Amino acid sequence: MPKFIFVTGGVVSSVGKGITTASLGRILKSRGISVSIQKLDPYLNVDPGTMSPYQHGEVFVTVDGAETDLDLGHYERFIDQDLTAASSVTSGQVYLSVLDRERKGDYLGGTIQQVPHLTNEIKARIYSVAEQTGCEVLICEVGGTVGDIEGETFIEAIRQIRHEQPRDNCLSVHVCFLPWVGATGELKTKPTQHSVRELRSKGIQPDAILLRSDHPVPRDISEKVALFCDVEPRAVIPMETVQTIYEVPLLLEERGLGDFVIDRLGLHGGRDLEEWREMVQRLKHPAGAIEIAVVGKYVALHDAYMSVKESLAHAGIASEVEVDIRWIHAEDMESRPAEALLSGVQGIVVPGGFGERGWEGKIAAARWARENKVPYLGLCLGMQVMVTELARNACGLKGANSTEFDPESPHPVISLLEEQQGITNKGGTMRLGAYPCRLTPGSLAAAAYRTDLVSERHRHRWEFNNAYREVLEGCGLRVSGASPDGSLVEISEVAGHPFMLGTQFHPELQSRPNRPHPLFREFVAAAKALQLVRSGEAVATA
Ligand code: GLN
Repeated sequence: MPKFIFVTGGVVSSVGKGITTASLGRILKSRGISVSIQKLDPYLNVDPGTMSPYQHGEVFVTVDGAETDLDLGHYERFIDQDLTAASSVTSGQVYLSVLDRERKGDYLGGTIQQVPHLTNEIKARIYSVAEQTGCEVLICEVGGTVGDIEGETFIEAIRQIRHEQPRDNCLSVHVCFLPWVGATGELKTKPTQHSVRELRSKGIQPDAILLRSDHPVPRDISEKVALFCDVEPRAVIPMETVQTIYEVPLLLEERGLGDFVIDRLGLHGGRDLEEWREMVQRLKHPAGAIEIAVVGKYVALHDAYMSVKESLAHAGIASEVEVDIRWIHAEDMESRPAEALLSGVQGIVVPGGFGERGWEGKIAAARWARENKVPYLGLCLGMQVMVTELARNACGLKGANSTEFDPESPHPVISLLEEQQGITNKGGTMRLGAYPCRLTPGSLAAAAYRTDLVSERHRHRWEFNNAYREVLEGCGLRVSGASPDGSLVEISEVAGHPFMLGTQFHPELQSRPNRPHPLFREFVAAAKALQLVRSGEAVATA
């Protein structure tokens, strides 16, 4: 059995509990300890797949096709390890499996209760991921804040695991926020004290408290928290806001979290964050900056494009440039000239999306990129945009469209696979998770990946329509990646353009800060090259 670290949150949510959990994973992994991470989400949705990105941010897809909370993306990026469906547990899933069993009569007429039936189901899921992964330490993050009604069953399950396990097998880490009172110019610990009291009333005494703050935390504040919350002073660790999220493991390690954890859990392994530190240094001290437009539907909420944003940053590290993102509402592209919104950027990303709103605006962005030879990266819907634009404006296929937006289109260049026709249920009909893709030798994609077979993660219903393959190839489209049997177009490129490439999958889900995704890396390199050419031209004309 591995050791367990339970991460809970206090005071308010959205203060970076997910990043903290991910950072703890990185700290332990860097010390040579094998880890896995699991998220316990108290909401009743079975998964976030059908939740609005406005409410929930990005849906992160695992290799095995689970639609999960965006925190799993942070976990994967920090520990540089693929996670699976088992790492994402919601109350909805827990209720569903208990109620399914009840309907089947598995409980033989017994009374079904939150405790023990739901708590047992939660414990089984925690123990099973621990066993499946064979990790030395399983870190479990509980979503929300201690005191939330929905989270109670999870907290009780954790309390029971702490009870069942030997004393030195479990550690509880509580992440709290210290509010700043402007009038007196001080940080307040009272909400933290109340939150710890709440946690204790559920039977859990925290072993460590991390104090999130936007201001420097004076020593007497940490000492006060240690005293009143009955936690060792070395385990009360201030966590001030830092320049980049990737700095958090460095901060926590420096402040002794790693030493404390391995000491208390009886583990061994010295600090080794040197490579990580170098990566953070490169990220913080770029040699230049480029600007990339992200044209999407949910740009008001950057969380909806979390992995895209991070992947661009990772690629920036490789090219030694800071990647500034110009967020553009796709709908604005429909009412204003492309030039007005896009001029000055060195690259354009059209990310994934569902629904018609902004579709024509995205097409306009792709057209501008193609005609002005500005690097373009289309992700899932972004490839469908690229193909449709080319069909309409380079191949003269008037009215070309995706049947998602025009079922009557005379040229449905993007359509559903036949076997998917007629299925209208939302959820469950998508191509989800990792699929193999064979690259075409000599293509941009093959050059970027430097291999011939890759595996990438999908989340979509519509596909490139093979009936148009030849016509489109005749006017500049290159199929640069397809399913091994050749039937599904997975990557396409526009010939004669420095970098115009779209993927039917989501490469952003597999980029890591220390291993940028090859397609993002080459896209950002192309954007940087464009900047060099343009500045050369400017000098020449001056
Ligand atoms: N709506 C498109 C489809 O279902 C694209 C989905 C996406 O971008 N993830 O095929």
